[in-house]
Amino acid sequence: MSIESAWGLQTTLDQQQASHHYRRRRTLDSAQGPIVQVDGKAFIAFCSNDYLGLANHPALVNTNQQALQQWGVGSGAAHLISGHQTPHEQLEQQIAAWTGRERALVFSTGFMANLGVITALMGRDDVVFQDRLNHASLIDAGLASGAKVVRYQHSDMRSLEQQLQTHQGRRRLVVSDGVFSMDGDRAPIKALVQLCEHYQAGLMIDDAHGIGVFGESGGGCLEAMKLTQSQVPILMATFGKALGVFGAFVAGSEVLIETLIQKARSYIYTTAMPAAFASTVSRSIELCQQAKHEREHLTGLTQKLRQGLLSQGFKLIVSDSPIQALILGDSEKALNVSAALYERGFLIQAIRPPTVPINSARLRITLSAAHTQEQVDALLAVMSEMRA
Ligand SMILES: *Cc1c(COP(=O)(O)O)cnc(C)c1O
Repeated sequence: MSIESAWGLQTTLDQQQASHHYRRRRTLDSAQGPIVQVDGKAFIAFCSNDYLGLANHPALVNTNQQALQQWGVGSGAAHLISGHQTPHEQLEQQIAAWTGRERALVFSTGFMANLGVITALMGRDDVVFQDRLNHASLIDAGLASGAKVVRYQHSDMRSLEQQLQTHQGRRRLVVSDGVFSMDGDRAPIKALVQLCEHYQAGLMIDDAHGIGVFGESGGGCLEAMKLTQSQVPILMATFGKALGVFGAFVAGSEVLIETLIQKARSYIYTTAMPAAFASTVSRSIELCQQAKHEREHLTGLTQKLRQGLLSQGFKLIVSDSPIQALILGDSEKALNVSAALYERGFLIQAIRPPTVPINSARLRITLSAAHTQEQVDALLAVMSEMRA
């Protein structure tokens, strides 16, 4: 039997192509950065999550090389067997101190952290309340946990309150992105804290896009709002975005972290991140804590880009993060604009359904502290040409 025809795989691919939802990868022939090489040509890239420009930072490359000499390339085992090494342990302590939580746990990826937390804590008799625009890994984790999953309208506290009044359960957990990955806006975390306290629900914030970007020391949305462990008992964030490396952490109480070590299957049954990368993340956090100037530069670029595009008549979702979503609506149109930008030497991805809701196809423009004012000016100039 050919699964390709018997299961209609080719037909589905053809349909996806016809509806402009087909996805293609672009191969970069260079390291990540504001200028990247594709097909032998240089592009100005506005589509990475490398918000502080750390992914190819010489100090981190150097740390990684030295750590590789000491620790080798592979961790050789899962954390609970023999893969947990000094750099992992140090990184966890550093994160706990940085985020003001009792303890932290390092996961190999953010997807696995979300899957591990929600499946370890929630089950059949429980309810997970999710913002409609939460990251796919949170949505999938809710489904995998076997709990009832209830989605509320995006950042809409009336909608959440209504759902909290309607759906009872043994345990109830409200989950939200801190900064929404495709829209760039921040969740109303203080209001979430209040509702969770009032309705006796747990709260989990995924700050993958807030860490490094917000807060005096780059500690993310919770640092910016001074929210403590008792207000937000479960904090998750990743190392692969502003921190420029790879992996993720969950931070919270001693008991929470011990529970995850005992029960989170995506923690237990997977190879530990190589120790050299844990060392590199530690160094990256130090750089991030000192990156006040970079964060200010990033805010300046964000304001410049927004003002420029809005004055040209483009429609942007309200956002003070380096994620700026320029709404085009139609998938084909978004692809065409992205292709036209490519022709002019700019790499910016069109984001289409199912990643974003139907009729909200967009350009997701992301800024980095490694960008210059001139690069943003250059983008504004071509956008204004395309408007004309
Ligand atoms: C990127 C991202 C993740 C997944 O993290 P990885 O380390 O890339 O697996 C989870 N949540 C959010 C909000 C993200 O943006």
